[in-house]
Amino acid sequence: MALTEFSLIKRFFTQNKVNNTSTQLGIGDDCALLSIPEGYELAVTTDTMVENIHFFADADPEQLGHKLLAVNLSDLASMGAKPLSVMLALTLPNIDENWLIAFSKGFLALAEQYSVDLIGGDTTSGPLTLTVQAMGLVPKNKALLRCTAKPGDFIYVTGLLGDAGLGLKVKQGYDCKCPQLALKRFNKPDPQIVAGLELLDIANACIDISDGLASDLGHILEQSNVGACLDWDALPLSNGVLDYISDTGDWIMPLTAGDDYELCFTVSQENAARLSSKYTKIGLIEEKQGLRISKAGIISPFLNKGYEHFT
Ligand code: ADP
Ligand code: MG
Repeated sequence: MALTEFSLIKRFFTQNKVNNTSTQLGIGDDCALLSIPEGYELAVTTDTMVENIHFFADADPEQLGHKLLAVNLSDLASMGAKPLSVMLALTLPNIDENWLIAFSKGFLALAEQYSVDLIGGDTTSGPLTLTVQAMGLVPKNKALLRCTAKPGDFIYVTGLLGDAGLGLKVKQGYDCKCPQLALKRFNKPDPQIVAGLELLDIANACIDISDGLASDLGHILEQSNVGACLDWDALPLSNGVLDYISDTGDWIMPLTAGDDYELCFTVSQENAARLSSKYTKIGLIEEKQGLRISKAGIISPFLNKGYEHFT
């Protein structure tokens, strides 16, 4: 290996400035040091991406760097946390400079966009595995949880559903009229940080959609001991997804496809008036357990599960 671990970190993963005042000490010592302002809690999350499981072996490294950070920032967004800093643990099969240049470019560009400091990590040799730990600030006792949805709440989502799923189908050979948009949604998701911050003090419960709407909303339902009815006809779908559905008849896809990284959240009916009109109301939290789908006026139970990691 031409580059030592430390020169690799210095060359590819050092930002030229500190982005936020919580970072007391960044890369270089045995630990980083973070200060947490009075009245806030630290929200902490981690996500790993493994080659051939979470991404294709031929994935564009710049997009991969973006996506690795985006999926972690998305978890902060779903709690209503403001991102502060991240740690990056890389397991690399070899030192491929071009790969590292592109990967760190995608990663650090998104970090800069949200004023996130890369404050440390680990670099080891082995099968390509990428892990991020992300930290954010949330006002004490205000974090948006999964366990606090209430019967009568309206259910909303940010953005559009199913485009990342369509992007995956395009990668697998589906011939779609406008593949670029779907591929972009699959490869370069936007973490909904701004939405998460806006929802503090408004939403009752929130989750980010990584495994599919039905499955992720299912976590809110289980943890809150409630059920829901989703109005399929209200789902925000792009023309690409609508074309895909009329082409294939697969209307389930926007309910089960993962990787959208939009937020799904519930809001009491009295708070609904305070909500920005850019979000789409897609259903209602009910006392009766389980998930139901209303489509063209017919309500049926929805049993289909999203992505499962161990089956
Ligand atoms: P140690 O052996 O004490 O764990 P390392 O030699 O692994 O320290 O790391 C030296 C410094 O570089 C530490 O501050 C660590 O957090 C940081 N670091 C290591 N790998 C990465 C990486 N991939 N990205 C960012 N920082 C890293
Ligand atoms: Mg180490």
